[in-house]
Amino acid sequence: MIACLGRFVPENDAESRAENDDVSTICKSLGLKGSIDFGVGATNGSADKDFGGMYSYKPLAVIRPSGADDVAVVIKAAHLQSNLTVAARGNGHSINGQAMADRGLVIDMGSTGDSHFEIVKVKGSTYLDVSGGALWEDVLKRCVEDFGLAPRSWTDYLRLTVGGTLSNAGVSGQAFRYGPQISNVAQLDVVTGNGDMVTCSESRQPELFFNVLGGLGQFGIITRARVLLQSAPDKVRWIRLVYAEFDEFTRDAELLVSLKEERESFDYVEGFVFVNSDDTVNGWPSVPLDPAQVFDPAHLPQTAGSVLYCLEVALHYNNSDPRSAVDAVVDRLLERLGFVSKLNFQVDVSYVDFLLRVKQVEEHARANGMWDSPHPWLNMFVSKSNLAEFNRVVFNEILKDGINGPMLVYPLLRSKWDDRTSVMIPEEEIFYLVALLRFPPPHEDGASIKKLVDQNRGIVQYCKDRGFDFKLFFPHYKSEEEWKCHFGDRWTRFRDSKKAFDPKHILAPGQKIFSRISNEP
Ligand code: FAD
Repeated sequence: MIACLGRFVPENDAESRAENDDVSTICKSLGLKGSIDFGVGATNGSADKDFGGMYSYKPLAVIRPSGADDVAVVIKAAHLQSNLTVAARGNGHSINGQAMADRGLVIDMGSTGDSHFEIVKVKGSTYLDVSGGALWEDVLKRCVEDFGLAPRSWTDYLRLTVGGTLSNAGVSGQAFRYGPQISNVAQLDVVTGNGDMVTCSESRQPELFFNVLGGLGQFGIITRARVLLQSAPDKVRWIRLVYAEFDEFTRDAELLVSLKEERESFDYVEGFVFVNSDDTVNGWPSVPLDPAQVFDPAHLPQTAGSVLYCLEVALHYNNSDPRSAVDAVVDRLLERLGFVSKLNFQVDVSYVDFLLRVKQVEEHARANGMWDSPHPWLNMFVSKSNLAEFNRVVFNEILKDGINGPMLVYPLLRSKWDDRTSVMIPEEEIFYLVALLRFPPPHEDGASIKKLVDQNRGIVQYCKDRGFDFKLFFPHYKSEEEWKCHFGDRWTRFRDSKKAFDPKHILAPGQKIFSRISNEP
């Protein structure tokens, strides 16, 4: 399937050879401190692939900058060419080619991962100054090991880059309390589409700062972010609670995310839908947290339907906390919840292992070939008032047999998101993240993957037809009309900011929002 939707530049095409020669001449003249691969070298790596595995666009060159200076030089050089575009590539974990540049330049931000790593104190708060190309996994390990500190808001999987998630939002089970990662950043260094290196924050160049956060890479390349830290706990009590009834699941999830006092709730709240069957991937065995735990379906009520719900929560604590005190807090919190009483799974793990929990999934998926297969994922935000119908139609009918991967569904609070950023979310205060994380078996043919893509489209179309208050997360549209609809009354602001910070539409062409404005008359 890889590349079947993308456009290839024929290797023997004379025009393309001339283009390659031009780029090679330009690149050699830049005097970068980092390195460049062009021609065949540019496509030997992974710059024409992403985690989605459904698109492939070949770049003319891949640049591994040594820092922000190199990034600025590359963007300025692209300005002088008639049609050259530039895509920052984080770790390429996009689904639909968003980090690629078709016959453009890809800047592999991984090479700058170590450029910044410094703890700074500002007005009593502690922050990490970190490179845009750094992996969150490295941020976690270094912050916890060296300083006993950690960012407050995470993603579930950490082999994503700081600049990549800040260009989208960065969401996980802590976001109900602290907001997404873009609500936890105080300052950015950005190289704009004009090639200007700018330090921005809420009080300094705020327009650029807020546009870049959740801005899909359209306004600038993030080379440094100042991320708010808190002290890292030692341990986590990780708990999964099973529900047969959707109403009870959402009532409890919403209760937990709405409790005002931190000590009254868990530190992490997520949830997922699973199939009421013994299917090893989609069913009961996907719930226990430890191989010694068994999911006994005899505990389920007779009324249980074809899908079940699992609330996933976690409580932070320290090694110095007596176990009885941790048990008491957990018991007090669980007393308020209406899960199926015997279907309650708990383990104690280190804080770092908890945050690295998806790594095990990755290892397993790599071993059986499912990590490198195509991933037709769908991520969306659906408002609370539309979720019951979504559950009835999508989870209980369309996807009642599962998707060969997790179907996440958990509540978030709009008030924890800053509406000056570029990310689009539903209007209601409580909305749900819905993520269909499909892992089709390896070697599925293109037609089977297309069916899954079409199923995703059908789900989105259903939401549109029913007038749901929803937004795509990691949006992927092809026409300006669709993008206008996505941004609604904020389209004008988005478009005007693009004009200000990237007037020639050089940056992030893989998002397919704007086309490069040619220098030629
Ligand atoms: P890329 O995919 O490389 O880039 C994404 C976009 O950002 C591109 O348009 C690119 O041009 C642009 N970009 C990259 N770096 C920069 C930069 N420094 N400055 C400006 N623009 C830049 N997301 C969540 O929120 N929560 C999760 O729990 C979560 N889990 C995931 C689990 C897996 C297994 C995968 C594959 C993805 C997950 N994601 C999650 C999605 C992830 O946030 C996005 O894929 C995002 O794009 C970040 O990935 P990346 O760093 O590889 O960026």
